[in-house]
Amino acid sequence: MRLVLLGPPGAGKGTQAVRIAEAYGIPHISTGDIFRANARNGTPLGREAQSYMDRGALVPDDVVIRMVSDRLDQPDAQDGFLLDGFPRTVAQAEALDKILAQQDTGLDVVLRFDVPEDELLRRLLERAEIEGRADDSEDVIRERFSVYENETAPLVGYYRERGILRHADAVGTVDEVTGRALGELAQVEEPA
Ligand code: AMP
Repeated sequence: MRLVLLGPPGAGKGTQAVRIAEAYGIPHISTGDIFRANARNGTPLGREAQSYMDRGALVPDDVVIRMVSDRLDQPDAQDGFLLDGFPRTVAQAEALDKILAQQDTGLDVVLRFDVPEDELLRRLLERAEIEGRADDSEDVIRERFSVYENETAPLVGYYRERGILRHADAVGTVDEVTGRALGELAQVEEPA
């Protein structure tokens, strides 16, 4: 299963990604987690990413694409993967298509989590209190929403046109949403 999770900040992608990846036995690849780990360890990549993350801006496409390309070359990603937080721009989506075409493969499904916007803001402010993520302050959250609308939302159309887009209603308990997501994915025909 080669799968992308799509959805606005606060849609619960990260939480669901862990469960879905486990259900399919595929690696969970979160670009945000990779950047945060690099930032914690003070690597050059982490230092570069930090300034963008702190503002709620996107890390430049070339940096992210190179990082994901390297990650998808790893042995554990050859038979499937779950991407969480990538692609976030049309340029990233096109680059991903190219990377997979070079491996003679492609995405099986893009699953979009649907959540109303007022619910998203409430969840992100709550997460800010619990996890203390630096980019969960109200100003930065608003910036991340606006980046999502302008840069990432167009991917819904991009993948719909390719016939691989599915939706899951992401309002409810974590278990309910996992159940819906797995129900949607179970309907995807895996290539022979
Ligand atoms: P996330 O944990 O997915 O919300 O990502 C946190 C932050 O990491 C984002 O606000 C961006 O600054 C950066 N980031 C993560 N993934 C990407 C991506 N695919 N493209 C650009 N920036 C990204």
